[in-house]
Amino acid sequence: MANMQQVMQQLPSSQVAERSIDQKHSIGKSRILPMKLKVIEDLKSAKVHIFNVGPWQQQVNTGSTGSFLIPGCPQDKSYVEMLVLNAVTGEMEPPISIIMEEYVIKSEDEMSSLTEDGWNFALQMIGVGRGRIPAHSLTRFGIFASKNSVPTKEELADAHRQLEEECRKIVKYAGDLYSTDRKGFSRIVRPEVHFVAAKVLGRDNPQDSPWMLDANPVGRIKCKMCGRVVEEGIATCEAGHIINEELYLELLAAEEQLKAAIAAKAKGK
Ligand SMILES: [Zn+2]
Repeated sequence: MANMQQVMQQLPSSQVAERSIDQKHSIGKSRILPMKLKVIEDLKSAKVHIFNVGPWQQQVNTGSTGSFLIPGCPQDKSYVEMLVLNAVTGEMEPPISIIMEEYVIKSEDEMSSLTEDGWNFALQMIGVGRGRIPAHSLTRFGIFASKNSVPTKEELADAHRQLEEECRKIVKYAGDLYSTDRKGFSRIVRPEVHFVAAKVLGRDNPQDSPWMLDANPVGRIKCKMCGRVVEEGIATCEAGHIINEELYLELLAAEEQLKAAIAAKAKGK
């Protein structure tokens, strides 16, 4: 009981301290022009968007600002946006604002705020702009920055044009290696790069890209129905033709068993 009373007595004085801190804060806040603050807040909530129409993801290290993952565009989508989880709201959101503000300790009792142009930051991130080599820019993989939350038709078309141009280079390189340097070909040509590039162009078939049959030939099977190339251990080609009958029946049986087990569980058995 005595302890309780002590706590009660202490409470008011700590509240007084808090109030005095609040007052100091509000004095500090009132020093900034309200209009300017509003404009900055608006710009901080306005976002710069990074989109990708290409199949490849890119990890970009921006140094002190951290590392960003630009996802690859899923096959059934026309574009994908780089988003991060907002830990406060639990929502996915674009990580770059038009104005990026960073507080830096200047001295023992002074903070200074650094503002950075978010648009510039986004362009630097994808390798566009001053001091950047255009051939190294991520725009060649179908990545672009936009102030629109939904990309326009023109933006998407332009990104596709650049992606396809790069894919034509990649596919041509594979074909050239195939005809001039088989050793280099088997060392360099990889499904996740060269096959995917051929796929972007709709040339991932033996007629358009004969080299595909010989790239890492071990375990690669050609579908006799449509000519699509299929990895070992896959039962059907992408069109659904059965490549490996034994495996297909095995997987089908396993799936039936699993479905029966799930159904039984649902009934509460
Ligand atoms: Zn097929």
